[in-house]
Order: sequence, then C-alpha cells, then structure tokens
Amino acid sequence: MSLREIVTYPFPVLKEQAKPVTEFGKELEELVADMGETMYAAPGVGLAAPQIGIPLQLAVIDITRKSEEKQLIVLVNPRIIRGEGEETEEEGCLSVRDYAAKVKRYKKIWVEAQDIQGNPLNFEAEDFFARVIQHELDHLNGTLFIHRISPLKRSLYLKKLKKLLKSEAEEPS
Ligand code: ZN
Repeated sequence: MSLREIVTYPFPVLKEQAKPVTEFGKELEELVADMGETMYAAPGVGLAAPQIGIPLQLAVIDITRKSEEKQLIVLVNPRIIRGEGEETEEEGCLSVRDYAAKVKRYKKIWVEAQDIQGNPLNFEAEDFFARVIQHELDHLNGTLFIHRISPLKRSLYLKKLKKLLKSEAEEPS
C-alpha cells in the first residue's frame, strides 16, 4: 500500500466523466488499498478515484471516523437509481481547498454498484451516509460540491482560491 497524492481543483481530471471499471483483480485491489490508506491519512470519509488523478468509476467510503473500527465500503461503477427527500448540510472536500458550504442532497437514496470482485451491490442509504455517497458519485461525473452552490458563492470562492494559488506561486521555495 502507498499513499497517493490528492489533487485539488482546478486539476483537469476532477472535471472529467470517469470511465467504468471493467477489469477486476489484483491491480484494482491494490488501487483500492491505496485509496483507503490515502483517505484515512487525509483524513476523510470518502475518496473517489479522480481525486488521485485516476478517471475511473471507483470510490471508497468510511463514515465511522474511528481508525480502530474501520469499515471501508468500496463502490465500483456506482449509480443512484432513486432519491427521496432532501436535506441541506455543510460539505467540504479533500479536493476543494479551504472551503465548506451548505449543499442540498437527497435524504435517502437507492444505490446500484459492484463490489471489488465485480459482484452486484444493491442497497439503500440515508442521512450522512447518503450524503457522502452522493458527494463521491458527483466526483465520478466531474462535479464538485462547488458546482452545487450559488454562482455568487462560487465566484467568491474562486476569487479566494486564485489569491491563495497566486500567493503560493510567489513564495520562494
Ligand atoms: Zn470530494
């Protein structure tokens, strides 16, 4: 296992539509292990493959936030087949630096996916778990949570980010 670098907006892969996973096996298992390790180290509750620069429909999630009781959920080629209700809560993202904002999501979702061996998965998710899944699935479609906030809020954030990137570029290293 090794830690991967998490890319941040505006890295191009974050805006791409990810491709379906078609090959299951050792390589995929190694990638998933790296993604898990990278997510726990960040720390985060979810990580999608595009966030480490790999445009594949693959995400790992663990909402337990307790390293001694890890429950890593691997979603391969996931999609939401139905959503119900709505809830607005604050979100952040490992690929969006220094920012959090309230985002409206389904309260309950029905998910179809495959596990790491390629077996079909079908399950329901609610509340925070449903929110994390929706956030990670957005990544697989090239969408970040900053695309789900008002244009005004987004432009304020982009201004702030531009300043941040500029000041870093000017710093002597
Ligand atoms: Zn994210």
